[in-house]
Amino acid sequence: MVPSHRRVALLGATGSIGRQSLEVLRREPDRFDLVAISGGEQLAELAAIQREFGVSWVGVKSPAHRERLALLVDESVEILVGDEGLRQLAQSADVVVNAVMGFAGLPVTIGALEAGVRLALANKESLIAGAPLVERARATPGAELVPVDSEHCAIYQCLVGASAQRGRPDVRRLLLTASGGPFRGMSSAQLQHVTREDALRHPTWSMGDKITVDSSTLMNKGLEVLEASALFGVEVARIDVVVHPQSVVHSMVEFVDGSILAQLSNPDMRLPIAYSLGLPERLDHRWGALDFSSGVELTFEAPDRSSFRALDLAYEAARLGGAAPAWLSAANEVAVDAFLARRIQWCDLVPLVATVMEHYESDELATLGALYENDATARRLATGNLPH
Ligand code: NAD
Ligand code: MG
Repeated sequence: MVPSHRRVALLGATGSIGRQSLEVLRREPDRFDLVAISGGEQLAELAAIQREFGVSWVGVKSPAHRERLALLVDESVEILVGDEGLRQLAQSADVVVNAVMGFAGLPVTIGALEAGVRLALANKESLIAGAPLVERARATPGAELVPVDSEHCAIYQCLVGASAQRGRPDVRRLLLTASGGPFRGMSSAQLQHVTREDALRHPTWSMGDKITVDSSTLMNKGLEVLEASALFGVEVARIDVVVHPQSVVHSMVEFVDGSILAQLSNPDMRLPIAYSLGLPERLDHRWGALDFSSGVELTFEAPDRSSFRALDLAYEAARLGGAAPAWLSAANEVAVDAFLARRIQWCDLVPLVATVMEHYESDELATLGALYENDATARRLATGNLPH
């Protein structure tokens, strides 16, 4: 039975996925009750969301943020702080949307799964970095991991339902589609001169800055290969990337008999968000609906792996296993931050990550402590390689 009112925690409520999640919730007031939210720096926006939805619990980054937010909300609102706050908020609801950006979303992922509730996961970095630990938390009775990332949500839908989706023997390979980003078709020489503004101009999706930059280097697709492997229990040798500039086919599954299933819709993140919230029901809306009468062109090509080295780096991190994906993702976060702060050029992004990966020393990642240590080491190395 689907409960008539699902309690929802939306962590990272002020970001791109957060705002689009709020649009879904506004459409469905009889189905969902927003009980908890969190945000980084945008405290006025956080307070406005709290008031609009009558949210009981709000998470912020630090005690200083708590003091500032307390001036903007009613004193009955409980304000929680830091990683421990995020972990508690992730245990306050029936469905937890993890829309936090980057490794900072780890307490949400682990907290929700350990509470045995549904985790609607947009935050890919926590899953990629902590795959063995997330896998363990997923074994908690009641825990359910539903991907929000459009490619993974497409694959999830092709595999139909949560029960039988992991390690399925009838699956030959997963085909992750990639728009190719704003620099598709450019040579290594041309890529030397692209700017921050160019990188932030994604051809088909409007997203937060970090993932938009990742899409321009194809690091996002590399991270998504690791994400798909962790989600569906498929080794990366059976995960291929296909460039599909229209972003209409969101990904595909090839079965052992050669049949391929795909999920199609216009690029609109509200569709996978609504799917992950509503499951097992599909919510009745028209987000992403395609109109074939006006002509829909679908083309596919192989990625250019010599100009876009991030893909090979991600496959290599998967081959190394253990903490290597955590290093890749942490080094990439530092690189993207530095790029957004105009400290490095676009063409420095992937080489910086590659340099950090050369120092990787194998670690099995047995504990959360080990994960935080590995994350810190990779960040330190990446920061040490930035220009002064
Ligand atoms: P964003 O930068 O727009 O928003 C991030 C949210 O996290 C904001 O609410 C911000 O305040 C909060 N946040 C940032 N740093 C934080 C920290 N250190 N501690 C606590 N909160 C912090 O990002 P986004 O584009 O919405 O992406 C969120 C996640 O979803 C990312 O992992 C991204 O890869 C994934 N994702 C996004 C899209 C998209 O369309 N935007 C698509 C697929 C996957
Ligand atoms: Mg994606």
